Amino acid sequence: MKHFCPLPFSHMEVDPVGDMKPCCMYKGKALDNQGKPGSALTHGFSDVFNGEWYKELRRKMLADEPDDGCRSCYAEEANGIQSRRLRELALNYPKFQTDEGLLISLDIKLGNVCNLTCIICNPFSSSRVLEEEIKLGIGYGTNGRKAPKSLYERFKWYNNDEFWAQLENHLGSLGRIDIMGGEPMLAKKHFVFLQRLIDAGHAGHIGINYVTNGTIYSPEVIQNLYKNFESVYITLSADAIGSTYEYARHPARWEQFLGNLRRYKSHGHAMTISYSVSAYSLFGIFDALDFYLAEGGVTVWFNIVYNEDRNIQLLPQALKEKFMEQLKLRYKPEWESIFMKSDLNSLINYMNQEHTYESSWPAFCKRTAILDNNRGNNLLEAVPEFQGYYENKL
Ligand code: SF4
Repeated sequence: MKHFCPLPFSHMEVDPVGDMKPCCMYKGKALDNQGKPGSALTHGFSDVFNGEWYKELRRKMLADEPDDGCRSCYAEEANGIQSRRLRELALNYPKFQTDEGLLISLDIKLGNVCNLTCIICNPFSSSRVLEEEIKLGIGYGTNGRKAPKSLYERFKWYNNDEFWAQLENHLGSLGRIDIMGGEPMLAKKHFVFLQRLIDAGHAGHIGINYVTNGTIYSPEVIQNLYKNFESVYITLSADAIGSTYEYARHPARWEQFLGNLRRYKSHGHAMTISYSVSAYSLFGIFDALDFYLAEGGVTVWFNIVYNEDRNIQLLPQALKEKFMEQLKLRYKPEWESIFMKSDLNSLINYMNQEHTYESSWPAFCKRTAILDNNRGNNLLEAVPEFQGYYENKL
């Protein structure tokens, strides 16, 4: 099947502003039966998941027809990249035969409150990036744009009790919840939801996957809540290590991150490092793989950053070649015990699929210089490979 995907039958993403859709890769929003966006701020879970829009998408999937919202997956597959659709198809889903949904996994992004301004992040995933872009007049804040009050209200979608009340009707089949932010450890309301899952007797068949920036560690939550769930999987977002990590994840501190990683490990949680591969972090891959191999107890997942002004397609050709040379010299087969070689091949395919230096390098340099000047950072110290190619001209 060329277009079928199990996620429209079994999954829901609620993004940081409460928009609901079949997965994080989907372009567009689910609609309610009146044709309006299905928002967790104003709708219950079933209003959308059992609605006509979702059913129509499921009928398309059963007929193996393409859907325009799934174009990112089709494009990745055409370029030899393992799309989310392909990764999901490899999993053990029931055989879906009708347009009815069966909730198996849920991906909830709890607003945008965050304590970091990661260089690859966006205003919808970090309140501090939103503040910074408005202050500097870049990104969201271009042309003096300010965030309306309604946007801040949408970031608090998780206060809509009707959403959670309707969700309770789907908990029997639920097997996994991905909890993200913002920084989820700062969204205390979700701990109430976890407690309700425990009280209703569902925690034992649900695994939780946190994606956290690793700067906050709460021993009480671990001891009182997590032990009730079938499993708790912690994904820590971290690009590169040491001072390059600190540059990419400003103003996080590497030693604090490392201490928290080791505390999580000491509780026996399965751990993954989500490494966002951008122009800033490409050259940090080798040291990071060496480090995590020696550290033990973690796997590394490379996640490609696509933004035009920071992705790896914009690098000068000479830097792309330098990366490939370093890869040849430094590659260790032992790395394959902590990462998927196909992830590395995917990012190399992506890097070489287009060369956007001419169109995107100036925007990368300008944004980098503005952010460096504001944060007191220096790209050339964090990524010395840029010496001779990049200059802060502001
Ligand atoms: S095909 Fe891709 S975009 Fe569409 S629902 Fe599946 S994973 Fe999401």
